[in-house]
Amino acid sequence: VQERDCAICRGINTAEHIFQDDNWLIRHSSETNILGYLILESRRHFLDLSFANESELQSYATLLARAISAVRTVIKPERVYTFTLSEAVPHYHVHIIPRTDAIPRNYRGRGILSYPLSPTADPSLRAETEDLIKRAFNRIS
Ligand SMILES: [Zn+2]
Repeated sequence: VQERDCAICRGINTAEHIFQDDNWLIRHSSETNILGYLILESRRHFLDLSFANESELQSYATLLARAISAVRTVIKPERVYTFTLSEAVPHYHVHIIPRTDAIPRNYRGRGILSYPLSPTADPSLRAETEDLIKRAFNRIS
């Protein structure tokens, strides 16, 4: 079930993605200049995991682990942050953010929430990174 006024539901069929099945979609975020910043989002419109069905829950952990692993392989970060807030868009999605040495100290840990939304990453660089992550993701099963 998708909702017309939900930004994630609207984007789900148009977004380029790293992975997609009946339940989940993984794409590269274009919101910041952080390369390897992925979003894992549910295909179905729901707020949080307490509303997920058995099928969604069964593949969730494996997909999240694969996504983190693919990001780790390509970006080689010191940490991979994963969190969900769903304040701006009340549709379940997980932020998967590689924290490399290049991220200034004030944006580490909880500071990541105030990381600037602009400038965004160069589109071709982002596409290239997305492709590398997709290939790494597909090698992991
Ligand atoms: Zn939605």
